[in-house]
Amino acid sequence: MLPSTLNYAAPTTLGAAVDLLASHPDAVFTAGSYRLLIDLKMQRIDAGTLVDLRKLTELYGIASVEEGAAYGVEIGAMTALSTLANDVRLLAHYGALAEAASATGDAQIRNMAALGGTLAYDASAGDVAAALLALDAVIHTHHSKGQRSLDAADFFTSDGKTALRHDEIITMVALPSTSASSIYEKFTHPATLEAIIGVAAAVTLDDAGRVAACRLGVCGSVAQAKRLSAAEAALLGGALDEAAIAGAAASAADGVEWLPSLQASAEYRAHRLGVMTARALRRLVKAQG
Ligand SMILES: Cc1cc2nc3c(=O)[nH]c(=O)nc-3n(C[C@H](O)[C@H](O)[C@H](O)COP(=O)(O)OP(=O)(O)OC[C@H]3O[C@@H](n4cnc5c(N)ncnc54)[C@H](O)[C@@H]3O)c2cc1C
Repeated sequence: MLPSTLNYAAPTTLGAAVDLLASHPDAVFTAGSYRLLIDLKMQRIDAGTLVDLRKLTELYGIASVEEGAAYGVEIGAMTALSTLANDVRLLAHYGALAEAASATGDAQIRNMAALGGTLAYDASAGDVAAALLALDAVIHTHHSKGQRSLDAADFFTSDGKTALRHDEIITMVALPSTSASSIYEKFTHPATLEAIIGVAAAVTLDDAGRVAACRLGVCGSVAQAKRLSAAEAALLGGALDEAAIAGAAASAADGVEWLPSLQASAEYRAHRLGVMTARALRRLVKAQG
């Protein structure tokens, strides 16, 4: 049941949106509203004012950004996941993010859900979280006292939430230029469609076929979306062969903390994380021929 009284505002500037949140402790942003309306109906949150972000035109779209001789991309926070899943630049250079967006929910969710709403709500559980960690993303925000740029590793906090303040709006996600190949592998819960475990991998090989750079990110039923540092260390400097992949899989769960879950025990999820890490790396090897 929706609350009997709900105020609504649709600001046309970022400043007005942030001011509304700062001056109304009971206000919340709404983007695609996919999750927010469910939470309101289920009375999981107690909001008095909805601040609709859909009129903030500067928060839409994907732009290429020159970085010396290469290009990175900047993605507006209101860009729909379906746009990310089909963007040719992302598919060519940031495959992990295109695949993670494509693996999120179903077509209706991907058409409605915005990147910013997904990051703010799903946090460590969201498919895109692992991809942003693997791709070294920076999350840009505005709040009533200024702006922040947060590395993905600092954005996802250890309680399964984010570093966002109440009046802070995600405006843009920046991905640096990269020569890495990247992919996303998901072990999906069959009923909720959400990730029990998701692993994103971004790997650069040198001319001799050794791992010159490597970033692995995990999301899903974990306490914190984070990089898999032990598995990355196991891969760096060596060939990306079966022995190295087995070593990375064996150490993937080192340092990962688990949320209580009725879906799967922590032991099972730790095992599954190794399996998904190996699967992601094998697919990268195959893709690189
Ligand atoms: C059936 C179902 C299946 C799903 N499956 C998956 C899945 O497989 N993988 C997955 O990752 N997720 C999944 N989800 C979650 C879904 O992707 C999210 O609910 C959705 O992405 C939220 O995006 P939204 O734009 O609709 O956000 P909204 O519902 O509008 O907002 C969500 C939250 O984010 C805040 N917010 C919105 N935009 C911003 C912003 N720019 N800055 C700061 N705060 C903001 C809002 O205040 C609110 O708290 C599923 C959800 C459902 C209902």
